[in-house]
Amino acid sequence: MSIATSPRPIVDHEPDPDVATLSLEEGATTFADLGVSPDLLAVLAKRGFTQPFPIQTLTIPDALAGRDVSGKAQTGSGKTLAFGLPLIERTKTAKPRRPHAIVLVPTRELANQVAEELTPYAAARGLWLCAIYGGASMFRQVQALRQGVDIVIATPGRLNDLLERGEMSVSAVKNVVLDEADQMADMGFLPQVERILGQIEGETQTLLFSATLDGAIRTLVQRYQKDPVRHEVASTQATVDTLEQRFIGVTSDSKVEIASRICSAAKRVIVFVRTTHGADRLAEQLGRTGLRAAAIHGRLSQSKRERTLADFSRGSVPVLVATNVAARGLHVDGIDVVIHYDPPEDHKVYLHRSGRTARAGESGMVVTLVLPIEERDVTGIERAAGIDVGIVSMAADDTRLLDLASWDPPRGLPEVASYSRGRASAAPARNGGGGGRPRRGGYSGGGSSRGGYSRR
Ligand code: ADP
Ligand code: MG
Repeated sequence: MSIATSPRPIVDHEPDPDVATLSLEEGATTFADLGVSPDLLAVLAKRGFTQPFPIQTLTIPDALAGRDVSGKAQTGSGKTLAFGLPLIERTKTAKPRRPHAIVLVPTRELANQVAEELTPYAAARGLWLCAIYGGASMFRQVQALRQGVDIVIATPGRLNDLLERGEMSVSAVKNVVLDEADQMADMGFLPQVERILGQIEGETQTLLFSATLDGAIRTLVQRYQKDPVRHEVASTQATVDTLEQRFIGVTSDSKVEIASRICSAAKRVIVFVRTTHGADRLAEQLGRTGLRAAAIHGRLSQSKRERTLADFSRGSVPVLVATNVAARGLHVDGIDVVIHYDPPEDHKVYLHRSGRTARAGESGMVVTLVLPIEERDVTGIERAAGIDVGIVSMAADDTRLLDLASWDPPRGLPEVASYSRGRASAAPARNGGGGGRPRRGGYSGGGSSRGGYSRR
């Protein structure tokens, strides 16, 4: 298999002297070596988890020792157990409506997934956990809290609602986890998060997990972690090495059909689009090509989202058309292809979306469809992500679409300067074929219209 990504880890901050990194080769430890107790080891063994993943090896000992750990690793690297095992080890039985631990997550899907993943371990300890999020019956959540929940896994908005109604108190909380903290920041949840954290009385342990630890996250760490230690797994080591990546040049006329052909050859595929409306429309268009496709986005009801996800997990709907937010943090096994139907906003989004496949060391194919007008932005994203896979233009009947792994894409990105010149001469030919849209607006002044890449 070809390794599509340069070995250089993506570092989006100055390296701190106390940051530990680890490569996958050093994985000879066991969960027992990390200090996990026999009852939880039994659950791990039953699930077939014999070797801790790198982020788990790095963070579990410090988290068990009660330190305030921040962990940075890409999606699919095993962060849930990295915080979940120590959390369950350290959580005690709580009084009704006064949980001992809270895990804050950005989306309701993630709340459910974290709860599901941790339930067997909690059950082994006789601990109760509960997922609490908006868009679902508050009554049932209140009932559960009254019966006594030891670990609450919640989205910040609904948790604040419950706190305001006096249905729950965080005064007895001793353990806090902020999962996907960067996504909570991106979604504007930090004020909500801080409102919750501000109501906790007494000493707490705060674990924070995120794909990035810069910007707003750094401030959170400084404000809420008293005994901080930071660990990170360089993202390319964690998952991107197992990705195969293709960048396919398309036209607006051929794009749906090309996506359809790629989907038809995949077992389970997520197609990313930019907008809610775009998700609905593309699911319908793919449906018309004979595929079973469904959209998932933030405007669907909770029950609809859950049904769609269940259909997708079961395989009865093999094509999921998703917006970024709807798919964030989701874990569905066996996604073999991710399609960036609309190019990602930046390289971080590219990595987050792409991390839906090649999870837990499996391999996966990531395809970005690129309109002529998007070439420059996509090249910028590749450069920022340390990827050097060239864009290959294809027509909808190109047989290479049906077996993307069977051919190797060209390596090397165009130089920015000569690239601009090349595009200038290529543009009229493409325009001659159709639309006649102005193409050069985004290239003028030497910066892309989004401007996010040249700045670095
Ligand atoms: P992240 O939160 O970093 O995106 P997850 O915690 O969802 O990643 O883990 C990704 C997948 O890997 C899940 O299916 C999880 O059950 C599995 N997994 C986690 N740790 C291990 C392990 N040590 N061995 C095997 N599979 C694991
Ligand atoms: Mg996670």
